Amino acid sequence: MHNQIHTSLLQWYKINGRHDLPWRITDDPYKIYLSEIMLQQTQVKTVLERFYFPFLEKFPTLLDVAQSDLDDVLKMWEGLGYYTRAKNLHTAAKKCNGILPNNAFELLELPGIGRSTAHAISAFAYKEPLPILDANVKRILHRYFAIEKRDEKLLWKAAYELFDSGNPFNYNQAMMDIGSMVCLARKPLCDVCPFEKGCEGKSVPLKYPQPKIKKIKPIRNRIIVVYTRNGQFALSQRKERFLHGLWGFMQYEELENNEGKFLGHITQHYSHFTLQADVYISEEDFVNEDGEWFSREEINFLSLSRADYKVLQFID
Ligand code: SF4
Repeated sequence: MHNQIHTSLLQWYKINGRHDLPWRITDDPYKIYLSEIMLQQTQVKTVLERFYFPFLEKFPTLLDVAQSDLDDVLKMWEGLGYYTRAKNLHTAAKKCNGILPNNAFELLELPGIGRSTAHAISAFAYKEPLPILDANVKRILHRYFAIEKRDEKLLWKAAYELFDSGNPFNYNQAMMDIGSMVCLARKPLCDVCPFEKGCEGKSVPLKYPQPKIKKIKPIRNRIIVVYTRNGQFALSQRKERFLHGLWGFMQYEELENNEGKFLGHITQHYSHFTLQADVYISEEDFVNEDGEWFSREEINFLSLSRADYKVLQFID
């Protein structure tokens, strides 16, 4: 049904596609999996220049991840953000004993692997004929089929309809490239798009998909206290889902006792809230069973959140 489109798509990919990306020239499922997870919330350039290779150097195989402490995995993830991804990667590595299943159905059983990621790993590593549905692909489908509504079910249906099952690898890679290079969110380049002929939304592409209703980010007001004694500092490991496993200075919603000496104020924007915190330093005894004492040098080996790095600047 879409034979002509598939031919133009593959031709476009042959000439314009990013064939040099390291995760495209390997069929090692672990390396593909790692790239998929890192790329979920981060741009290709950042992943490529700062995170992908150092991570693989430290953990050459998924078994190395499985046999490591979560702290070591988080340390290599530091700066990449969305730390739940690293935690899930570690849990998944342990769950499958460092050997990924060879099909999307079983990949889906692992934590942090959703349907599109499972399809991507399986299509790229095992050539399983399955379409993917990441943010870029969604945008193309919305426009190609003129679908205004943001409806996951409808988009999966469209993804299967347009899919070239004879070329799962090249088709999916081409879709990702067109999404990031041609069918741009604000300025789609329809004139050079291989979908131009059949695209139902090209006369008003910005209508598809319908704009998201903007939510106002809540502000979290906190007090951060740097407790210190004998040249050491107290930190605890975060337990909540967000930032789980990272180390940080003591953080409170409010304090009953004297906080100590005021050091300054920090602001940190996260995806779903903004942290506003006054930072104090105190030599008072504190009681907190989660707290552990570290020298300044030892702190360099811990994984900290961006907010805690800002706090660190006050004491350096
Ligand atoms: S023709 Fe335009 S709107 Fe349609 S898929 Fe291509 S770039 Fe997007």
